[in-house]
Amino acid sequence: MVAVLQRKAQLEDRLAALEEKLRGIDAELDSHQSRDWEELATERETDEVLEGEGRAGKAEMAAIRAALRRVDEGTYGECVQCGEEIAEARLDLLPYTPFCADCANKRQR
Ligand SMILES: [Zn+2]
Repeated sequence: MVAVLQRKAQLEDRLAALEEKLRGIDAELDSHQSRDWEELATERETDEVLEGEGRAGKAEMAAIRAALRRVDEGTYGECVQCGEEIAEARLDLLPYTPFCADCANKRQR
């Protein structure tokens, strides 16, 4: 059993890493503004990848912040859908998940 405080530290580390990464992505995108025409086509592709990563990063950050709120509320590790405990192995992989495996599967269908 991993202690909730350990999970919290894990989540906070991940959140800080994501913030750092998103700052890098924004800086990279900004630096692409003033370049030659020839470079623009390749950069546009790069930008799309970066923007995709940025979106994914922001979504993950929102999920992590929600998980940290549940830590504070003492409900971390419980499925927000059915209230069952989320399996440790699942939290190891997705420490910010609000759903147990069953509910996550049902939502994807
Ligand atoms: Zn559930």
